[in-house]
Amino acid sequence: MSETNRYLLDDDQMPTSWYNIIPDLPEPPPPPLHPATQQPIGPDDLAPLFPMDLILQEVSTESYIEIPDEVQDVYKLWRATPLHRAHRLERALGTPARIYYKYEGVSPAGSHKPNTAVPQAFYNAKAGVKKLTTETGAGQWGTALAFACAQFDLECEVWQVRASYDQKPYRRAMMQAFGASVHPSPSEITEFGRKILADTPDSPGSLGIAISEAVEVAAQNPEVRYALGSVLNHVLLHQTVIGEEAIKQLALAGDSPDVIIGCTGGGSNFGGLAFPFLREKLAGNLDVTIRAVEPKSCPTLTKGTYTYDYGDTAGMTPLVKMHTLGHDFIPDPIHAGGLRYHGMSPLLSHIYELGLIEAEARPQTECFAAGVQFARTEGIVPAPEPTHALAATVDEALRCKETGEDKVILTAMCGHGMLDMAAYDAYFAGELVDHEYPDEAIQDALTRLPQMDL
Ligand SMILES: *Cc1c(COP(=O)(O)O)cnc(C)c1O
Repeated sequence: MSETNRYLLDDDQMPTSWYNIIPDLPEPPPPPLHPATQQPIGPDDLAPLFPMDLILQEVSTESYIEIPDEVQDVYKLWRATPLHRAHRLERALGTPARIYYKYEGVSPAGSHKPNTAVPQAFYNAKAGVKKLTTETGAGQWGTALAFACAQFDLECEVWQVRASYDQKPYRRAMMQAFGASVHPSPSEITEFGRKILADTPDSPGSLGIAISEAVEVAAQNPEVRYALGSVLNHVLLHQTVIGEEAIKQLALAGDSPDVIIGCTGGGSNFGGLAFPFLREKLAGNLDVTIRAVEPKSCPTLTKGTYTYDYGDTAGMTPLVKMHTLGHDFIPDPIHAGGLRYHGMSPLLSHIYELGLIEAEARPQTECFAAGVQFARTEGIVPAPEPTHALAATVDEALRCKETGEDKVILTAMCGHGMLDMAAYDAYFAGELVDHEYPDEAIQDALTRLPQMDL
């Protein structure tokens, strides 16, 4: 009998609701605070940045939120995404483990990001907004939002982190193909960008700086709103379509996961895959280990402090309680741009503090090696970000080889690397270095965290 490589769902088997994990947690996450008053913020405080539908999702205590038909229609351009069984990788590793990966690279942007870009554009258009501003690091989020804005007739303006703008001209061209205008960040367009450039003319930029620029422009114009591609509760909510589909697909395969592994930048692809399974675990239906993998050069969960910090560098966003390396953190230019954010999703940080998930950090060369092994066996060149999850998946499968356990491992293959080949080029040329985030930098950042009188 020939083996099955892919488990697929028909359109009518796709989830019709997003899953909100908050009501199922043993305690709710700590509230965001106003940067000036340090008091919990209300929906109106966020209204200059986001439309009310998204704000209500951000604070929702409902377990399920219906996916609007207009959003489901766009999702159907590429969803449901396939669940693959990695038979060829398993054979190459000689492991008795069964490895599955949920592949989000089939989307218009090549990653999971359109799962939230589409509803964000939809709710903004519904509220009469004309333009969305945003930041992008690796270029994945900017591409996703540009595509989503084109679907709902919105303008889209993107601040792309300078280092990425220079390294990834094809990402910029792709955003332009979808109709967005793109600026390198820091830029001369905003007050905050000009301030950074005056101090550091050759600044490589950072996600925190680019967020400040995009927020500044949105806050000044009533017809413009801002969109964030990770970190926030509503973003993780939208991404749960990944896990809801995977539950049905694993059932088709007759399997149930023992270990779930995903990479974490702001936490959205990981949360999107893991939360529906965590619901089953919390309900006592599933015994599963859930593991987040981050880069050693940006180790927010494993080495960051769990405290209130700003989401951006300028300190314009609300204070959120999260694992952070400090809002003025400028990361080493590792190639996995999507994993270079100073903080972590407050919801995921809270879940980590509750002991419901594990976390570990890995150096990038080891991750690229796993990515290359995956490309040669499974035929997909992964984006640099999910190679972190792959490196941990390979290790888990090799442990199974030693112990003889036939564990089921499910990993998040959140994007392809077809526009990241410069990073692979650097890896093959032996030019990639493993940066470890130094302990002194952690001590230093602690001195600049916001002073809270709680
Ligand atoms: C943006 C991105 C990430 C990091 O963001 P999360 O919110 O942690 O998912 C990881 N992988 C890819 C391919 C991305 O585009």
